Amino acid sequence: LLPTAPLRARAEIDLAALRANVRALRERAPGAALMAVVKSDAYGHGALRCAREAVAAGASWLGTATPEEALVLRAKGGLPDGVRIMCWLWTPGGPWREAIDADLDVSVSGMWALREVSDAARAAGRPARVQLKADTGLGRNGCQPGDWAELVGAALDAERAGLVRVTGLWSHFACADEPGHPSIAAQLGAFRELVGYAERQGVRPEVRHIANSPATLTLPESHFDLVRTGIALYGISPSPEVGVPADFGLRPVMTLSASLALVKHVPAGHGVSYGHHYTTPGETTLGLVPLGYADGIPRHASGAGPVLVGGKWRTVAGRIAMDQFVVDLGGDEPAVGAEAVLFGPGDRGEPTAEDWAQAAGTIAYEIVTRIGTRVPRVHV
Ligand code: PLP
Repeated sequence: LLPTAPLRARAEIDLAALRANVRALRERAPGAALMAVVKSDAYGHGALRCAREAVAAGASWLGTATPEEALVLRAKGGLPDGVRIMCWLWTPGGPWREAIDADLDVSVSGMWALREVSDAARAAGRPARVQLKADTGLGRNGCQPGDWAELVGAALDAERAGLVRVTGLWSHFACADEPGHPSIAAQLGAFRELVGYAERQGVRPEVRHIANSPATLTLPESHFDLVRTGIALYGISPSPEVGVPADFGLRPVMTLSASLALVKHVPAGHGVSYGHHYTTPGETTLGLVPLGYADGIPRHASGAGPVLVGGKWRTVAGRIAMDQFVVDLGGDEPAVGAEAVLFGPGDRGEPTAEDWAQAAGTIAYEIVTRIGTRVPRVHV
């Protein structure tokens, strides 16, 4: 329950922007269905609300990493009938039976998973929707090409036995966020080959898919039947090499802000925060921002993260602590409670999540995903 008093900090989630992003992405991939990737609480934006909005705006699939995330969406998402939900990160003994009962599409990368899902389907008395994942070069999850024939053959046997329905053939890119990287064409070629092989054996998938956000934005030949978009849905570019969100008609969805908890005058030479890594160069004012690394503000951005206060960019002074950090206001005197905007779309002059990623030496995915549960999401 949120108090009605002004919030210490908030992550405002602009659902109109999310819906517009879904529409923009559908226009980029007009021949493909759109899977809204809402794993990890919709990259920190709130999975239930974002899933519902994405579906209302035209996504026909939802994607999660874990089956638990997918089961919660099915149970609590308030989703219209027919919305497909796929999850891809399985471990032995996973909730296969619950997934079958909840009509999830489950990813299978190897024989152990096919055996477990088949056993669960036998117990459930109905076939599981299975999507076979190939490792076309990412070197992470997925079936190695050398093992593909065995997996496809076993899946077809299980299909004939009424235990599975092979609904999809899929893979994932390693370097789609670096347009022109030679592995992209190599992975596409391998994917076409592995799909072709499976289809010649008799697999009739509803969907073949490999495109994530960067491939959706930059590589139409990778769209196949479905595109799986995560970061672009939230209005963030996958990488500076791909471009900026506005290049693709995308608008950042999350604005993270806080109310200054203190504004005070200090003399020159005043050490600031743990370790005294910042010392005031002259007499100045300091503002206390009540957010810290426990809220997901990266400690690596100490001394570097940008914050908009009173119309100007300020820089984090000294170390980011667990719950708070300080900005040097350079003698300006905003009122206590004044708004400090860490990141947002950028059109009010505020920094973006990409700016924080650069300050912290990471990617914008990590910036939004790590915003902690102590920060209320305010969906507007
Ligand atoms: N597909 C899979 C298998 C993923 O793991 C992810 C996220 O990492 C995505 C799609 C979405 O990627 P992006 O956020 O780059 O669109």
